[in-house]
Amino acid sequence: MAQEDPRGPSQATGAAALQAGWYHGHRDVSGGWLRPAVFGAVDGLVSAHTVVLTGVAALVAGAFSMGTGEYISVTNQNELVQSEVSLERQMLSRFPAAEQDELAGYFRQYGADPDTAARMAAAASADPDTALRLHTREELGVDYDELPSPVVAGTASLLAFSCGALVPLFPYLVGASVLWVSLVLTAVALVTGGGVVGRLTGRPVIRAGLRQLALGGLAIAVTYLVGHLIGGHGA
Ligand SMILES: [Zn+2]
Repeated sequence: MAQEDPRGPSQATGAAALQAGWYHGHRDVSGGWLRPAVFGAVDGLVSAHTVVLTGVAALVAGAFSMGTGEYISVTNQNELVQSEVSLERQMLSRFPAAEQDELAGYFRQYGADPDTAARMAAAASADPDTALRLHTREELGVDYDELPSPVVAGTASLLAFSCGALVPLFPYLVGASVLWVSLVLTAVALVTGGGVVGRLTGRPVIRAGLRQLALGGLAIAVTYLVGHLIGGHGA
């Protein structure tokens, strides 16, 4: 301390105060490196937290929307079939001769000669259940006692959507808040999914995988763009 600091107390006063336990220093409150570092880390955690929250919300909303949509769609379809089946049941009981003729006509279309067709129609019409099953199969194209279950269809749709939505979300759930990890995982899942579907439907596996990747990529790009326009900032 060669020169006296004009802003501080005089040397004598200062020395006395220091001996009495005067502490002159203060912590840096003006900013420096600590504040941006801490806030940056918190911001990173918060945005990863936001991605997880948004992602989980989107997953749950999407899965339930898909599941209930599928449930309602299958239920409506089944109710339509059931109403047509009950109409057919009424016609069978009110106009048995006309319905038996109709049935003979179907058998003739399958190549039976008129006599055989008439005998087959008579045999089938003897049992109301068999007659109803044959008529609805011919006229509606469905087996009314083998209709798809809305609960199974809805649950399958819900679970499938959740599995798909978990892929891009997974890195964030385990704490790796880096977008490209998510994108790479999603790309791999899209190619794999497309390839599996291609294999099941007998199309070229690689082309099917790449097509899925292109369509999925387009969907992601559109989603990102819309999010960017609405939210004003990217992920
Ligand atoms: Zn009929």
